[in-house]
Amino acid sequence: MRGSSDKQLNFFIKGVGVSGGVGIGQIVVIERLTTEICPRRMIKPEEVPAEIQRFESAVKAAAQRLRDIRNSIDQDHPLCDHAYILDTHILLLQDRMFFEGTKAAIASERRNAEWALSDIMMKITSAFDTIEDEYLKERARDIHFIGERVLKLLMGITSRSKVHQLPPNSVIVAHDLSPSDTAQIKKENVFGFAIDMGGKTSHTAIMARSLKIPAVTGLEKVSRLVQTGENIIVDGSTGIVIVNPDPETIFRYRERQEVYRKYQQSLMTFGRLPAVTRDGSRTVRITANIELVDEIEIAASHGAEGIGLFRTEYLFLGRKDLPSEDEQYEVYRLALEHNKPNPVTIRTLDIGGDKISAHLQFSQETNPAMGLRAIRLCLSRTDIFKTQLKAILRAAVHGNCRLLIPMISCLTELIATKEILRQVKEELTEAGMEFEHQVKLGVLVEVPSAVVIADILAREVDFFSIGTNDLIQYALAIDRVNEHVNYLYDTLHPAVLRLIRQVTSAGQARGLQVSMCGEMAGDPVNIPILLGLGIDELSMNSLSIPMVKKLIRSINMDDCAELTRLAFEMQDAAAIHSLLEGWISEHFPKDYFVDQS
Ligand code: PEP
Ligand code: MG
Repeated sequence: MRGSSDKQLNFFIKGVGVSGGVGIGQIVVIERLTTEICPRRMIKPEEVPAEIQRFESAVKAAAQRLRDIRNSIDQDHPLCDHAYILDTHILLLQDRMFFEGTKAAIASERRNAEWALSDIMMKITSAFDTIEDEYLKERARDIHFIGERVLKLLMGITSRSKVHQLPPNSVIVAHDLSPSDTAQIKKENVFGFAIDMGGKTSHTAIMARSLKIPAVTGLEKVSRLVQTGENIIVDGSTGIVIVNPDPETIFRYRERQEVYRKYQQSLMTFGRLPAVTRDGSRTVRITANIELVDEIEIAASHGAEGIGLFRTEYLFLGRKDLPSEDEQYEVYRLALEHNKPNPVTIRTLDIGGDKISAHLQFSQETNPAMGLRAIRLCLSRTDIFKTQLKAILRAAVHGNCRLLIPMISCLTELIATKEILRQVKEELTEAGMEFEHQVKLGVLVEVPSAVVIADILAREVDFFSIGTNDLIQYALAIDRVNEHVNYLYDTLHPAVLRLIRQVTSAGQARGLQVSMCGEMAGDPVNIPILLGLGIDELSMNSLSIPMVKKLIRSINMDDCAELTRLAFEMQDAAAIHSLLEGWISEHFPKDYFVDQS
């Protein structure tokens, strides 16, 4: 391991690239306040009321400071669209477990406020630790950020963090960066982020993308290995960070930086164009995957022609109660109205097992990925399911709605779902509510058994959407979040390609639309095969849209067909990778379609 003081040249660390581009600058390490260093003392019973009041005042002051930061973000600020994150943090300060839980701990355990609060923070974050879903996991960070803010106030640490006074050419290195810190940085002075924690859906990642600052997260301990003032390169496209680069490396990366900048600029025009192949014979609809309704604007500005996957889990997150039918209706209506006449594919709740137990006290499961999740949970909690379906059907009158059911593994589940849909329609009619009777119904094909019976399922639905993220984990027996087996997770495994072909064939035989919404859909390397197999719609993270459109507009269907034929003759993923990557680099040598590191 590298010591913090040795100046090893070109010290290389690999993380997750979450915001593209190259940043070159000088490190500013943002120290974190750990909960371990807070003062801990037992208090006397008579001290309890004053200690509770001290905690309440600190929470109030933290809320006021967050409000001030939020109000300083005006309409033109690049983070304007994300100011809601700070609103969420203000609300979280009143979270029952956080606020009441700390006060209860002060009173019942007679601990000083700092101690009680840090224990509560630990409890909340460890409850999230068992959660498999990356997005939900990241929300534990929110609790941590607000907790640290209150802790600092309790401990009298009033100094504003360094983010205010960053000199030009700064690259922020931190264990984690709170949204409020991110909101306060001077964008023109910050050339990159290198962060220990987090993945693609962390708030740091979301904000870095909006600010167009190159960022790498998941670096584990970079904040402990480097010092303020050292030079650093952050390549947010490849996830590579280089500390103390030599002049030749800097030169190489400056060139790369320029290529990337020009490339991105040129790409944005493609977002506005249709994804039609060069020969004009095929048009593919390109849609976006979103978790939050606030992402709709970003999706539209990058050229999304609707929403191919609206992950509705977030609505159920971070709260002890369930979102009401009206609350859900408002969110779905907003998404549908904004995208009209383009489609919005609303996936019903994909949560369960360990994902929900932390919030809603469902039973713990030893193998949650294969447990009571998604449609299985909904069929066992028809109260939750019916409420969501009613909200969706009511909202559907405001746009072009498609209903997508996750984790279907057999026909019985699909039939049961349709029966519940029928009951829901009946109940809405009885209640005299306006709703859409003809919402298109689709199966998210992500369990291998659903692929094998795709011909049977096809008779019951209007469309298929292939969820490769889960399909690959189940088909190849690779836990998608286990870093030890991650190397086996391969979108171009011949088995995966055969599974996709089976779904497209079954769909096409019945004239169904077949889309793909797993991460595989947004990686340009896969595009020729996906077109060759006849996928009608590709749904992806918004930032990939212009690049994918550009590629589709540059290729001919003949080439796609030929590459698909060749790939299906090959026996392992490595050969298929070199076929596709080789073809793309040969035909588009100046493009960023493949990693050019
Ligand atoms: C998938 O499994 O491919 C998918 C799109 O759903 P999620 O990533 O939300 O599980
Ligand atoms: Mg899935």
